[in-house]
Amino acid sequence: MEFRKLNELDLTNKKVLVRLDLNVPIKKGQITDDTRIRAALPTLRYILERTHKVAPMSHLGRPDGEVMPEYSLEPVGLRLAELLGVEVAFVRDYTEEPAEQVLNRLDKNQIILFENLRFHPGETKNDLDFSRKLAQGFDCYVNDAFGTLHRAHASVVGAAELFAPEKRAAGLLVDKEISVLAGLQKNPGAPFTVIMGGSKVSDKIGVVLNLLNHANYLLIGGAMAYTFLKYQGIDVGDSRVESDKLDLVAKIYKNAEARKVEIILPEDHICAEKFDAAAVAVDIPSKSIPRGLMGLDIGPRTQKRYADIIALSKTILWNGPMGVFEFDQFAKGSLRVAEAMAKAPGYTVIGGGDSVAAANKAGVAEKIDHISTGGGASLEFLEGQILPGVRVLLK
Ligand code: AMP
Repeated sequence: MEFRKLNELDLTNKKVLVRLDLNVPIKKGQITDDTRIRAALPTLRYILERTHKVAPMSHLGRPDGEVMPEYSLEPVGLRLAELLGVEVAFVRDYTEEPAEQVLNRLDKNQIILFENLRFHPGETKNDLDFSRKLAQGFDCYVNDAFGTLHRAHASVVGAAELFAPEKRAAGLLVDKEISVLAGLQKNPGAPFTVIMGGSKVSDKIGVVLNLLNHANYLLIGGAMAYTFLKYQGIDVGDSRVESDKLDLVAKIYKNAEARKVEIILPEDHICAEKFDAAAVAVDIPSKSIPRGLMGLDIGPRTQKRYADIIALSKTILWNGPMGVFEFDQFAKGSLRVAEAMAKAPGYTVIGGGDSVAAANKAGVAEKIDHISTGGGASLEFLEGQILPGVRVLLK
């Protein structure tokens, strides 16, 4: 999969349209985590060394085609200005005044930031008219929004297609994400351990089936584990189970057997009577869970076993929490996995918002070799799909 990269574009004094993923959490007008803005800086700095005529664009939240002030990118513009040391001219009405005209008025220390793309219904519909408005007057297109590459939206696909193939390229973040995730599917160092958690087998089936081609161990946690245990005929009490998805689990076992991948399930659990922030945690030291209790985290023996396997692995990929980590009493399994990964000598990759949040909560995010910025995009990529935002940049 050969896509065009930033260093293949001639950017000198060009007008450059850049799709970024600046979809950061904002509470009461304050950005609570600016990781995604920081992740976009290397590409912006690279472009700014060659031209000052740069216009970043992004979505924020899901305003569903309507102008909603709480989803304005204005606070993002202020933070971007601070981090880049430039002035950011915020362009609200770019569908009325072509951005090109604004660019022509700018000083050398000013860049443009478009208002939230999803204020316009044309964005998610990949509307041609809206795509034209975005692309109009620009010489080059760069996509560095890894988290949205799986969406065939106007700023990701439609606008990109309006540039000649040699005028559109991936940014540095997209390049790095793809080389790491593609590397896991090429020749990962063995043993390669995949840790899957989260709520549903059905959400992860594509990824699991694809990764069974490459992995040696598959460790299961989260609510997913109870569907696996149920399939094995083990009592799981009142745990969350996808009873109608047992056929998917059967398929996973069949493929795992053919490829000699060992699937490892929790052997003890932390349970509660109900799914509640104030629920009292009960240790259940057996594989089976009695009626009246539901499994909400992996137990201490499982935590140790998973940590031991992680320590011995050369490549480790983790997606999806081991339990209801949002509630402190059920967060330990996820925190132990994050800590074990941080200590592991192997190459470590974490994808998916919740697992990344768990690594942050454990204070070990810096010790992980690669943390993916895109949950949905990384999952679809690991299913083996060519993402729409990548396809348009292929050579
Ligand atoms: P996902 O979005 O599929 O990665 O799932 C993440 C969600 O799964 C988190 O909000 C967790 O609270 C939830 N989760 C993890 N383990 C369990 C469990 N044992 N029972 C119910 N929900 C769980």
